[in-house]
Amino acid sequence: MDTSPPDPQLSALYQELILDHYRRPRNKGTLEQATHTVSLNNPLCGDEIDLQLRVDDDIIKEVRFIGRGCSISQAAASMMTQLLKDKSLPQALALADRMSAMMQGDEGAARDKTLGELRALAGVSKFPVRIKCALLPWNALTDAIKS
Ligand code: ZN
Repeated sequence: MDTSPPDPQLSALYQELILDHYRRPRNKGTLEQATHTVSLNNPLCGDEIDLQLRVDDDIIKEVRFIGRGCSISQAAASMMTQLLKDKSLPQALALADRMSAMMQGDEGAARDKTLGELRALAGVSKFPVRIKCALLPWNALTDAIKS
């Protein structure tokens, strides 16, 4: 297994991906007929996320979010919504666990393809203050599902 730190080129690529999601967020907007809605904020950084799901038969059919804040929180929300469509609720919670493990520095999680583009945020685990930013949309998701 390769345990070397990511090379600078890969970091640059990840940085681009994060900025791209920040500037052109996917699935941003308001969902008609949402079955689950949760608003969360991260007072440490000023990030806000309004997450809406339409769940049918325990499957996430649609996801939208409205938010503002730093690039990490908004990119994490955008990347998360891409991943959730058509996932079952247990699958979504398992992804939230993987994301949380990645933020705790778990190398296996950082290489887990099920996290998709979110792996670009693996480096955030080195900045404890920003971890809450990256996990904000996931905490909203977990609250929405468990409420
Ligand atoms: Zn933030």
